[in-house]
Amino acid sequence: MIQPKMNQKELITPNTTAQIYNIIRHNGEINRMGITRISGVSKSTISLQINKLIKLGLVEEKTPPDSSQRKLKLRIREDLGYVAGVFLGITKLSIIIFNLDMQITCERVHYFDSISDPEQCNKEIIRQLKELCAEHGIQRLWGIGIGFPFPVNFREGKPDSPPNVPLWHDYPLRKIYEKEFGCPVLVDNDVNVMALGEGYKGCTTDESDFLFVKVGTGIGAGLIVDGKIYRGANGCAGDIGHIAVDGSAVRCHCGNKGCLEAVTGGKALAVRAMEIAENGESPYLKEVLTRKEQLTAGDINNGAIIGDLSCIQLIKDAGNAIGEVLAKLVSFFNPSSIVVGGGLSGFGNLFIGAIREAVIRRSLHLATYELNVCISELKEKSGPTGAGTLIIDHIFSSQEFTSTIKRNLTPG
Ligand SMILES: [Zn+2]
Repeated sequence: MIQPKMNQKELITPNTTAQIYNIIRHNGEINRMGITRISGVSKSTISLQINKLIKLGLVEEKTPPDSSQRKLKLRIREDLGYVAGVFLGITKLSIIIFNLDMQITCERVHYFDSISDPEQCNKEIIRQLKELCAEHGIQRLWGIGIGFPFPVNFREGKPDSPPNVPLWHDYPLRKIYEKEFGCPVLVDNDVNVMALGEGYKGCTTDESDFLFVKVGTGIGAGLIVDGKIYRGANGCAGDIGHIAVDGSAVRCHCGNKGCLEAVTGGKALAVRAMEIAENGESPYLKEVLTRKEQLTAGDINNGAIIGDLSCIQLIKDAGNAIGEVLAKLVSFFNPSSIVVGGGLSGFGNLFIGAIREAVIRRSLHLATYELNVCISELKEKSGPTGAGTLIIDHIFSSQEFTSTIKRNLTPG
């Protein structure tokens, strides 16, 4: 975003160095004039700060072939350090290690039979992360961001009353990882970090107000407001899985009736698929059920691909129910995009089309005529990418910049 130049006597604060570093970090190669234009800081201050950043080794100057000063480009030294983005699903762990320019250095995936025991599970995550670092000669990390598949008290860095995995409640995640790796750690819920990842490198990179909706076994939303995650007063903003779908009497595990995730979550759809297989409404699902003795959302998708009308209708109905709930959020929040991720986004255009149609039908024209409804571009990488983004933005924030430099660049 281009900001106006300051016309009063400018105030040079320790934040100016962080601000200039972040302009270079977010803009790739940029010259001094570009930094002056974006920051609104005078040329002499820019020069002073850039020399400081070069001396620290954080930034380097790239000499163009004709060596003219005007064209001299600045860039961050990306391999100076590394951050890790860790993302845990119900059974799958994804780790990506990024350099300081958020380029992928290395990555790995590990599967769990169960994540119900936090001690066992975190021991394994730590082992996997250390092993990955060792394999690639990374001696230490500048920071770690982690996304977990349940409600997280962001300030405390602990899970809060996670359904189905009660042992995780209050487990001091952030402290454990900080102690183990000796670097800053931030912990958030899965959908918040997925939203951040999509905004950083996915289909909403130029947008500052959008919704990311994760549709899997559970349903949740991440709200990006003014380029930042909006967490709300208690950190549970976006918990849309328990908004009631009009006219539904399906009982939810939370005790209420008609909750969105009880109507259209992955498990709910599998139960509905079993019903229409058993009553013979769908010959395709009946045949699969006889063969496999159970059905999943993937079977519904396969049925839709080969043209089974009941499977197509199931996907359309699910998209419609989600769209009706999202329409309420669109009227309230006016996002520029709704990005749909999570396992059920694999239903593809049929699903997205039904969501889009319901949102448009139930919202005012002004809120939807430019609204983009799309599938997550980063797909399974949105989680670890967002976790990496969460921590790198934190360690280079104005508040943390000086301690990050001290911790990582001071000799001895
Ligand atoms: Zn509920």
